[in-house]
Amino acid sequence: MENKKELRNWLDAFGLDHPLVIAGPCSAETEAQVLKIAHQLKDTDATVLRAGIWKPRTRPGNFEGVGALGLKWLQKAKEETGMLTTTEVANANHVDLALEADIDILWIGARTTVSPFIVQDIAEALKGTDKTVLIKNPVNPDLALWLGAVERFYTQDIKNLGVIHRGFSTYEKTRYRNNPEWQIAVDLQNKFPDLPLILDPSHIAGRRDIIHDLCQTGLDLNYDGLMVETHYDPDNAWSDAAQQITPATLVQMMKDLKIRKEVG
Ligand code: PEP
Ligand code: MN
Repeated sequence: MENKKELRNWLDAFGLDHPLVIAGPCSAETEAQVLKIAHQLKDTDATVLRAGIWKPRTRPGNFEGVGALGLKWLQKAKEETGMLTTTEVANANHVDLALEADIDILWIGARTTVSPFIVQDIAEALKGTDKTVLIKNPVNPDLALWLGAVERFYTQDIKNLGVIHRGFSTYEKTRYRNNPEWQIAVDLQNKFPDLPLILDPSHIAGRRDIIHDLCQTGLDLNYDGLMVETHYDPDNAWSDAAQQITPATLVQMMKDLKIRKEVG
């Protein structure tokens, strides 16, 4: 974990712990839901609240997010709990709205990382800001696309970057929703050793019973953080119901995980 300069920069600026824990629902559903989950998470290891408001769904006819309305709910959750906030941005317009709403951290979703023109537009919309951006791997196991997205942000002088490993789709059915292919994340780390690497066990797993084991593997591989989908009523979540865990399960998991304390 030497040379984690970028990690120190933005984690220190935010006063965040190691490992960084980002938690919250797949989707913001209602104002009451966002506030309730934020209050349940505020005294846990989670320091950043996640909630998707623009949801690029693979198939039409599914819940596609509440849109810009959800930005106010995230702002309110931050005011009431002091948690930092993060949401997915999938185009330059989302970036403008998220910047106006002062969302702390933006993430780029797996279906966006595959699209160089959109990544470029988003990076240009962020040029000159010190916003922290986390770039998920592309849906397909293509290291070059992931590297390319990172390079597009660096080229626009966006320095507070990190990457999120959320696994890769395969046509065959495996025990995972998205195959981890750990080596791809390791290769990206070798190429950009300064970049904080965060594990998203939820989208790798697609089911809640293997979230703990995936987190342990990530921590054993020296990942810098975890982004875990968390809902107070996972079975009734409006998206990704099978993979979300409750705040109580998150608390227990963080107690049970063996966490290496040293950081370079
Ligand atoms: C999400 O984080 O809810 C999401 C849509 O993730 P991904 O882009 O990894 O599929
Ligand atoms: Mn999700």
